[in-house]
Amino acid sequence: MSRYEFTCPECGQEIEVNESMREATLSHGCPVCGAAVSTSAFAQKQPTE
Ligand SMILES: [Zn+2]
Repeated sequence: MSRYEFTCPECGQEIEVNESMREATLSHGCPVCGAAVSTSAFAQKQPTE
């Protein structure tokens, strides 16, 4: 499953999320401050190897 690094543009919180959490955050906003976020707040992480 793909993993993403979410960085909130409002509160600056960085959270590692998976695909389903990414979708939920896009739908419901930042889990910390509730700000609306766009896809640009997510950076896909490289597999660790
Ligand atoms: Zn936030």
